[in-house]
Amino acid sequence: MNIITIISSLMTISLVEGHFGYSRKDQHVWFKKFKSCGGQLQSPISILSSRSLAVPLPALEMIGYHDYLQDMLQLKNNGHSVVMSINNGTRSKRLPYVFGATLPENEEFKVDHLHFHWGAKNNRGSEHILNDIRYPMEMHIVHRNKAYSNLSDALYHKDSLVVLGVFFQLQDKDNMLLQPILNLLGKVKWLNEETKLGTPITLASLLPDNTDEFYVYKGSLTTPPCSEVVTWIIFSTPVAISFNQLTKFRLLSDSVERKLADNYRMLQDIGLRKIYVRRLNSYTFTKYNGTTFNVTNLDWFWH
Ligand SMILES: [Zn+2]
Repeated sequence: MNIITIISSLMTISLVEGHFGYSRKDQHVWFKKFKSCGGQLQSPISILSSRSLAVPLPALEMIGYHDYLQDMLQLKNNGHSVVMSINNGTRSKRLPYVFGATLPENEEFKVDHLHFHWGAKNNRGSEHILNDIRYPMEMHIVHRNKAYSNLSDALYHKDSLVVLGVFFQLQDKDNMLLQPILNLLGKVKWLNEETKLGTPITLASLLPDNTDEFYVYKGSLTTPPCSEVVTWIIFSTPVAISFNQLTKFRLLSDSVERKLADNYRMLQDIGLRKIYVRRLNSYTFTKYNGTTFNVTNLDWFWH
C-alpha cells in the first residue's frame, strides 16, 4: 500500500464515520459536507403499494441465512446506531450472500453488517414509510458486491450495495429471536463500546416470516456520504418486537447523557424513480407472460 492509498483510505473512513447530526437543522446541511446527500436518488422514501409497479420478479435468494454465525459477530455503538458487523476474519467459511430479484445476473452480494434506526416514541423510528405507516424501528442488512473488498471501496461504484430493509411492529409478547442482540445492548450503551456476540444466531431469525413480497427501488445510503449506489429491497411484512425490547434500544447513548434515538433520516423525493413490488398473482403473470417479462428490461426511470 503506498502513501497515497493509505491517505485516501483514511479519508474514506473519516467520511463514512464523520460527525453528522439527526436534528432537522443538521440534516438540512448534510449536503454541504457530503455532496451526494443533495442528489436525485436519495433514500429513504415513502412507499405506496398503489403507486408501485407489480411484477412477478424472481425470488430474492438468501444463501447462508440459516447458518449459525459463530465468532463472526461484533456489536458496536458508533454514535449513530448499533451496528452488528459480520466478518469471517481469516476463516474460509463463506459469508451469507444474496442474489436474484432485480439484481444483475451472476452477481453476488455478501453481507457486510446490519444496523437499526428507531424512534424515541412509538409513532416514529423507521426510515421508509410503507402505505403511510411509520413503524417504530427499521433494520438494514447491508450487502456489498463481492467484487469489492470493503464498504468504503464499494461506495465509489454504481449498484455496489444491496440493503434489505425490515420493519419492526410492536406486539405485547417479547420476540425471543431478538434476545441474543438485546441481551448485549447494555454492553454497548456508550459511544464506541463494542462486544462480541456470544450466542450464535442466524440472519434468517431476524427476517419476517414472509419474504416473498418486497419492494425494490434504486436509492442511496441514508447516512452521509449518502452514496447513490444502493438497490433497496424492503419487505412488506414486519417483524415483531415488544415495547420492553424496543425500550432497550432507547437506553443507548450517543454521548455523555444524550440518548441515542430518532436516528432516522427525513423522507426524500422519489423524483423520477419507479418502485417495483414483487407479486406473483395471476394478473401479473398474465400481464407479463414469460416472453414479455424480463428483469433486465425493467425500466428503472420514468421517461
Ligand atoms: Zn440504515
